[in-house]
Amino acid sequence: MPSEADQSQECPECGGRGWVIVQDSGAGTARRCECRFENLAPRLLEGSGIPARYRNCSFKNFDINAPSPADKDQLLQAKSISEHYVEGFLKPEGGFTESGLLYIGSPGVGKTHLAVAVLKSLIERYRVRGLFVDFTALIHQIQSTFDPGSPESKRDVLDPVVKAEVLVLDELGAQKPTPWVNEILYLIMNSRYTQRLPTLFTTNYRLDSGPAADHENLDRAPSSSSFQLLSSRISPNLLSRLYEMARPVAIEAEDFRREVQMQKHRF
Ligand SMILES: [Zn+2]
Repeated sequence: MPSEADQSQECPECGGRGWVIVQDSGAGTARRCECRFENLAPRLLEGSGIPARYRNCSFKNFDINAPSPADKDQLLQAKSISEHYVEGFLKPEGGFTESGLLYIGSPGVGKTHLAVAVLKSLIERYRVRGLFVDFTALIHQIQSTFDPGSPESKRDVLDPVVKAEVLVLDELGAQKPTPWVNEILYLIMNSRYTQRLPTLFTTNYRLDSGPAADHENLDRAPSSSSFQLLSSRISPNLLSRLYEMARPVAIEAEDFRREVQMQKHRF
């Protein structure tokens, strides 16, 4: 495998300097050479925080097999919405979309898979600074900054989350909704909302008790987290902000075999 230096030397445009001079009436204007953008995507992916178990998730390997045709349709639709989101990410007038997606469904249906596939596609296609954050891990990381010996401050932890050009916030509602947890979540969501930065959320909690919830009521214990409503996990002002920030994408295809297969696939 050639080293980065070898690759740069091969660039006929800039001769490895990373800059090209565009001729104008004066001394010329420097611009970044295309070859630097080629190297940028792997670095952005490396810094995106996507956990190892999800690193290979793509649209291509998203499993749309489900026993019922209705479930299969829903998986296909969720995939299609995600692909269209990537297609339409750049606004015609410049800049990128400020709205995000909210993947809703039981554990193991592929919500995180799709969110990661979107994030990776956005990084590869548009070179955005993307970040993946598991909400529970984030809360623990912030708590650890309260230790007097902690090298990091709360701000050190939150800054990249608030400022990422695209954020995946995985497992919204997974933390016990204490006032402190709600406050952190509000800080993240409100900052991103006012800065018009898009966020992709995943959650195991339902938005409302529609027919799907009734259906599940028949064959599953009400103690299951997927039975609960998101409104029982986040405050009403956060919920309404969430509706403003993200388009809901329901993935209700629940099949335990599917989850088992995914686990086998991963390990
Ligand atoms: Zn070059």
